Amino acid sequence: MATGVHHPDRLAGTGRAPGGAAAFAAELATLLALADPEEPALMEPAEVLRDLEAGHVLTDSHPPRVTPDEFFDLVQNLCAAVNRRAEVAGEGRRVHRALGVYEAVARSLTPAEFVRWVVEAGWEGAPPDAGPAQRGLEELALDWARRAVLRRHTRRLARVLGGPRWEQPRFDHRCPVCGALAALAVAAPPRSPRRLALCPDCGARWRQRAGPCPACGEDRPASRVTLPGTCGEGPGAGRRPAMVDGCSTCGHYSKIVEADAEWLSAPFEVLDAGTFTLDLLAVSRGFARRSRRPTGGGSP
Ligand SMILES: [Zn+2]
Ligand SMILES: [Zn+2]
Repeated sequence: MATGVHHPDRLAGTGRAPGGAAAFAAELATLLALADPEEPALMEPAEVLRDLEAGHVLTDSHPPRVTPDEFFDLVQNLCAAVNRRAEVAGEGRRVHRALGVYEAVARSLTPAEFVRWVVEAGWEGAPPDAGPAQRGLEELALDWARRAVLRRHTRRLARVLGGPRWEQPRFDHRCPVCGALAALAVAAPPRSPRRLALCPDCGARWRQRAGPCPACGEDRPASRVTLPGTCGEGPGAGRRPAMVDGCSTCGHYSKIVEADAEWLSAPFEVLDAGTFTLDLLAVSRGFARRSRRPTGGGSP
């Protein structure tokens, strides 16, 4: 099994009383911050900037560096934290076994393939014998670990560039850093065509214009469904206008929130969990969130 610096004993404070989705998200956000070691800057800033300006997804040309040991250490820690929180300790052995299968698959890949596995679909393609009954906590932990790796990489790219240069207007639905579809955006008012998109995977933010469905490209106004709601938690909870922006053609939805700098200062995990009522609203109407690259493949 993996060894490393991320020992479960370091996860102090995970036993406190539940405090809602935002509290849980804040706890996980703290946990994810563990995976941010100092790394030497091996990238050439001018090269990164050139790729950004050319519209390339940065993780294609400058992939993150992560080893299976490092990745699965983080997964194990996340599982331990989620287990404690969800009081499903009896699941521990099953989850441990399922993760062992994923880890074996991951170790059969070359280092470059492994990074690709983490950045793109990850566990979705493996292992082949993981049936629906086996998909659960371990997948949640794999997803969070994958995002932790991407967020660390985004912070590193920002350091290389001397700041988050991708915040300049792009009016694109695809994250300029990792290629994921925007799943949460900020606009004032919520129906405003100009938005600040937040990447659910790597944490990058960029200026975006409301337009065709980000998942399927549908642009007929009649195919768009807007479901008004409010932000469930965080500053201004229950009063901050928000809405679900759904596509009736492919079923993808985004969450749009009228927010200010105070709200935006929280980690993405907190913002995401704090708008969970919008997810419930969307799912109850048959929508599903597609946050990863729709093709599962790299760009040229
Ligand atoms: Zn991203
Ligand atoms: Zn669509």
